[in-house]
Amino acid sequence: MARCSNCNAPLPDGSVLCDYCGDRNDIDLTGIHYYTTHENDAPRTCPRCDVRLKTLDMRLKGRFLIDRCEQCLGLFFDPGELEAVLEASVSNVFLIDRSGLDSINLKRQPDQYPVSYIKCPVCSRHMHRVNFGVRSGVIIDRCKAHGVWLDGGELRHLMEWMKMGGRLLDQERQEQIKKEEQKRESEQRQKLAGYGKESSPFDNFGDPLRNSDPDLFDIVYKAFRLFTR
Ligand SMILES: [Zn+2]
Ligand SMILES: [Zn+2]
Ligand SMILES: [Zn+2]
Repeated sequence: MARCSNCNAPLPDGSVLCDYCGDRNDIDLTGIHYYTTHENDAPRTCPRCDVRLKTLDMRLKGRFLIDRCEQCLGLFFDPGELEAVLEASVSNVFLIDRSGLDSINLKRQPDQYPVSYIKCPVCSRHMHRVNFGVRSGVIIDRCKAHGVWLDGGELRHLMEWMKMGGRLLDQERQEQIKKEEQKRESEQRQKLAGYGKESSPFDNFGDPLRNSDPDLFDIVYKAFRLFTR
């Protein structure tokens, strides 16, 4: 269990905020000891606190810059970087621990912020809210062009999710969805082919009848079915 760096009280699961002293703890980067701060050329602003974000170099396979707000401890990742950080910190997961996934989500603190659309730190346009993965319990804020925002504590939670096989479960679900889609498509195709066969006897009636009174058409059709049964 994580403890508050200020008063040593146990921290609620997945929460950056200490219940006792109210201090914010940077639980997201606890496993990552080797980052340094950097000056960013273009200033980026925290969508929660409206202050400048600090740039950190996480040095994953060379220079790897992410942005962090020192007030709320939220993190901003350029496109693809979040996945790279998760993959670098959690590897060798071959099993899906379903009960583990349940328990990390049950123990998790409710979201610290009310549901709202926040602005991209780069372009200031409203970001989209996207579910990170099946049963991850984390909704990330994403700007398609610039990257994703994670609130403080969410990176730690996603690492737990990865450890419990969340990524594998997500891939499994994606494949299932793909298979179901393919099945539906082929059923649709068979159905259409079936309609084609059934409608061919109508063609003998010719167009004039089709364009006439629908009731009359119906009667003739029923009679036709009686004869051909
Ligand atoms: Zn504390
Ligand atoms: Zn902030
Ligand atoms: Zn943007």
